[in-house]
Amino acid sequence: MDDTALTFTSLVCALLVAGLIVRTVLLSRQIRHVARHRASVPAAFAQTISTEAHHKAADYTIAKARFAQLETAIEAALLLGWTLLGGLNALNQFLLALMGGGLWQQLALIGAFTLIGGLLTLPLAWWSTFRIEERFGFNKMNLGLWLGDLVKNALVGALIGLPIVALVLWLMGAAGPNWWLWAWGVWMGFNLLLLVLYPTLIAPLFNKFEPLQDESLKNRVNALMQRCGFAAKGLFVMDGSKRSAHANAYFTGFGAAKRVVFFDTLLQQLSPPEIDAVLAHELGHYKRRHIVQRVVLMFALSLVGFALLGWLSSQVWFYTGLGVTPSLDAPNHAMALLLFMLVVPLLTYFLSPLMAQLSRRHEFEADAYAVAHTDGRDLASALLKLYKDNASTLTPDPAYARFYYSHPPASERLARLQTATA
Ligand SMILES: [Zn+2]
Repeated sequence: MDDTALTFTSLVCALLVAGLIVRTVLLSRQIRHVARHRASVPAAFAQTISTEAHHKAADYTIAKARFAQLETAIEAALLLGWTLLGGLNALNQFLLALMGGGLWQQLALIGAFTLIGGLLTLPLAWWSTFRIEERFGFNKMNLGLWLGDLVKNALVGALIGLPIVALVLWLMGAAGPNWWLWAWGVWMGFNLLLLVLYPTLIAPLFNKFEPLQDESLKNRVNALMQRCGFAAKGLFVMDGSKRSAHANAYFTGFGAAKRVVFFDTLLQQLSPPEIDAVLAHELGHYKRRHIVQRVVLMFALSLVGFALLGWLSSQVWFYTGLGVTPSLDAPNHAMALLLFMLVVPLLTYFLSPLMAQLSRRHEFEADAYAVAHTDGRDLASALLKLYKDNASTLTPDPAYARFYYSHPPASERLARLQTATA
């Protein structure tokens, strides 16, 4: 290894250790803070949340945080195993000996990596669903459905993912030094296509979507959408209860393909005025252009990412510094993609507080929109029900919440709603 490679290895290790420390400190803070406030319901919620629900939220939050600590350690070990300990290099050499160099070998490398990585983390996914979610009464899946989902996900992923990966690999070899600009264009086009295809073709593979039947609710919702000047193609109810008791509502699609999707669990838990308020909040995200902002931001960040990948993939130290011997007589494009996907999160992790901050600002804006178009008290009571039914803690650690929370903590959010409606 030369000096640059060694410097790069040290940089990667430093980022890995720093990330591990920050994650572990934040998770233990969260666990300690929630445990310390477990005994009694915070004063602001004394009238609305029972001690029993408060205990459940605390226990659920702590169980998830402990599990996240385990996951963090396992993911770091896997990263080291793939890179510096030689996992990817061995897999690549094996496939080279088997198939020779070329596009098929590179596709096989990416396919094998994804499959092995998926299998290695499968026990974690199983534990999360059948131990944690199950213990708190959220899991509605049996093993058959879970395995079926797994197979379907793998098939859909291969069917959609392999052609796009093949196209990118081909561009890397054939489009000259500025291939990354072309690859970025292809990647963006693919993402926009997914936004259109997902709600109409992919989501129905996993859930049933039925037009909203309840006439009076339909009238309410249509009146609200008219009031807000919003056109959607349809109102759908999704059988979310098939997998989980967690409730949600969302919009998908773009332009004429826009649709509103309610989880059946949400319709069961909320009263019609509360559903209106939650929907108005979601409309607020559209009206305040949050969705467009997010897409534009994603475009810009991926352009930076592809430019970085374009540069890194032509540096020998990028490979040797991560435990891989690049081939001299076969393309290394797939390897560059994999190494990049493995190490970039070490860097972007430290951007998560900025993204979370932006997201929380959007949530406040969407709440304000809902208050302007429906009764803010309905949104407040809907949020309370959702916090309770999802066993979300009312007392997160402030530092943890600032770093990770995409939504403002309950106390801040409800206090803001109270001021707005008073
Ligand atoms: Zn929101």
